[in-house]
Amino acid sequence: MRVDRVRQYLEYYRDLGIGTLYRREAGPGAGEEADEGVGRGPGGPPHLDAASPEPGESLLQILADIGDCRRCRLHEGRNKLVFGVGNEHSPLVFVGEGPGADEDEQGIPFVGRAGQLLTQMIENTAKKEGIPLLRNDVYICNVVKCRPPGNRTPEADEMETCGQFLYRQILAIRPKALCALGGTAARALLGHKEGVTKMRGKWFQWKDIPVMVTYHPSYLLRPYNQEAKREAWEDLKKVLHYVYD
Ligand code: URA
Repeated sequence: MRVDRVRQYLEYYRDLGIGTLYRREAGPGAGEEADEGVGRGPGGPPHLDAASPEPGESLLQILADIGDCRRCRLHEGRNKLVFGVGNEHSPLVFVGEGPGADEDEQGIPFVGRAGQLLTQMIENTAKKEGIPLLRNDVYICNVVKCRPPGNRTPEADEMETCGQFLYRQILAIRPKALCALGGTAARALLGHKEGVTKMRGKWFQWKDIPVMVTYHPSYLLRPYNQEAKREAWEDLKKVLHYVYD
């Protein structure tokens, strides 16, 4: 494989939060591989594998299993599948709802306006609290990996189908805490039908992992939501101190 191809692969996996790769011995049939995998969603280089953190599976294995996913109707309007981004060993994982237009275009979660707010919230809150933390230090993903048409809320069957990959991502990372951004993420992780306003600021549990529920950044972008913004900042402070103190 050419050096520039390898570099592209490595950058692609780094953006997905996968930092550990090793080169497997070339086996039968491992010659020059087709030009595939980069920039068009999942699929990967045939002889680059992530070292699997036992006992679970790696993010790379999960990504490979998702493949060119057509398990639900959301694939129909997809430009890029949005798997997740950040530190694959992060003690903190943020879970959003699903990709919007910017995320669908770039294949990276939370890069649009809501994403910029999320980044600011993470980095500014951490800084104020004396915690050295940047967006890249945490892991960020969504309940569904493909953009719902017109940014509608994902439907129950879509969440169920795609949720299995979210659960596997969390199990692979094994974070100290999860932060559910908004009602869809809270429902996917906790099954509660209660609104975010009632759930926010409290600790729940997904398997044995503590989950903090807070507002979705898109909701905080609305101009009349100053109070919700303040509350979200409080929620984030709680999570950051729990995870990083
Ligand atoms: N909203 C989400 O829930 N996820 C994203 O990735 C972007 C916006």
